[in-house]
Amino acid sequence: MIIQVKDLKKNYGNLQVLKGITTQVEEREVVCVIGPSGSGKSTFLRCLNQLEEMTSGQIIMNGHDLSDPKVDINKVREDVGMVFQRFNLFPHKTVLENVMLAPIKVRKTAQEEARKHGLALLKKVGLEDKADVYPDRLSGGQMQRVAIARALAMNPKVMLFDEPTSALDPELVGEVLAVMKNLATEGMTMIVVTHEMGFAREVGDRVIFMDQGVIMEEGKPEEVFENPTNERLRSFLGKVM
Ligand code: ADP
Ligand code: MG
Repeated sequence: MIIQVKDLKKNYGNLQVLKGITTQVEEREVVCVIGPSGSGKSTFLRCLNQLEEMTSGQIIMNGHDLSDPKVDINKVREDVGMVFQRFNLFPHKTVLENVMLAPIKVRKTAQEEARKHGLALLKKVGLEDKADVYPDRLSGGQMQRVAIARALAMNPKVMLFDEPTSALDPELVGEVLAVMKNLATEGMTMIVVTHEMGFAREVGDRVIFMDQGVIMEEGKPEEVFENPTNERLRSFLGKVM
């Protein structure tokens, strides 16, 4: 198990957003998280990489207990790559510079090595020819692929994706999903919040349905999509499929 989550709760003031999430993720597993808007999916991911502090419960991430006050959060975060709905690339840096930045700043990787690795990653996401352009010259799909390359530059053990294709024009969704599928095939451990049910079904090893701050159903994609036992899941799938 690379991630273990036990009775994770998160409140914002009086609002209880996560009401006791318990699950675990194995190395090389691809877990897709689905569920209606406001159900706590983003909050869950943000707790996993400590962008949000949990209210109670336990998260063990790659051997680090996040509830331990002595844990080095920055160290933990280095192992967890995250890709958001919005690309947030640095506009005044080239594509390659965007990818090289974290390894140089955080890991103190030598310029030349970061450059080589960066170019290899751009090749992996099909964008080696865009290395020297600025983000404003890219399509949304290309930006998102750069964002993935940038996250991979730190050699993460786990990749978290929060609706990585939701802000894209429909014709650009496929190229991003293809890169993610590739990554999954190479054995990356991934948690993917997505509304792309085709991706969840094809690439996911497991699907988690979240609703109102709890995991309502969890299982293999076939089980979850073909035999949804939960009424709320059935109604959700009816709307999105
Ligand atoms: P999802 O990603 O499933 O749409 P979120 O995790 O973004 O759900 O949000 C779950 C609930 O938590 C929502 O009701 C949202 O308004 C609330 N929420 C999220 N972030 C904050 C915050 N920083 N402060 C207060 N409430 C928040
Ligand atoms: Mg969200």
